[in-house]
Amino acid sequence: MDTRDAYFREKIIESGQWLTARGMVGTFEGNISALDRERGRLYITPSGRAKDTLTPEMVVVTDPEGNELVRKEGLKASSEIVMHARMYAMRPDVNACVHCHAPFSTAFALNHTPIRTDAMAELRVMYGGEVPVLPYGEPGTEHLVDGYGEHRDKNVVLLANHGMLALGKDLDEACGRTATVEAAAKILFISRLMGRNVPIPPEELEKLDKIAERMAAERPR
Ligand SMILES: [Zn+2]
Repeated sequence: MDTRDAYFREKIIESGQWLTARGMVGTFEGNISALDRERGRLYITPSGRAKDTLTPEMVVVTDPEGNELVRKEGLKASSEIVMHARMYAMRPDVNACVHCHAPFSTAFALNHTPIRTDAMAELRVMYGGEVPVLPYGEPGTEHLVDGYGEHRDKNVVLLANHGMLALGKDLDEACGRTATVEAAAKILFISRLMGRNVPIPPEELEKLDKIAERMAAERPR
């Protein structure tokens, strides 16, 4: 284990603790990965272990296709490894994936309801006003993200009848997106119960879209 290897393992552990502390992952569900593209090593949480009890040597290392390279005796890569590998192949700009069953987002996924509103400025700027739902795919297979091709510009998607998938250039970004989308789902749910959920006027939405365009242009590549 060299410094670079240790860094990736540590980031997976840290992310598991961060997401658990915020109620984003339950005991055994969810999986977190990061890809070291330079070395062709994919780091992922092991199957069936709580995300806040992991130690660096428990992180499983695979090649970018998801074939196991290094693992501790008795542990294996998350069953969703194929989904992670497929996302990295589809999005060369993405180096981290977080999949979880955060309660409010997952409730939207169970209802096949996108997290979509013209009433929330942040959702408009950060996510184009919508987090879409991909069609149902069998868990543990690459079919979970069959529908992603139509939403390649989205950094967070819902998986029908299942949960959420957030992408990022690194784990800090993917974890941050997980938490902000879950917060948006929660707010939208409460706001709809209250009833009005007043849309932002179209001319103001245009201004928000300009902010989003400017932020996208300024993003380091
Ligand atoms: Zn899942």
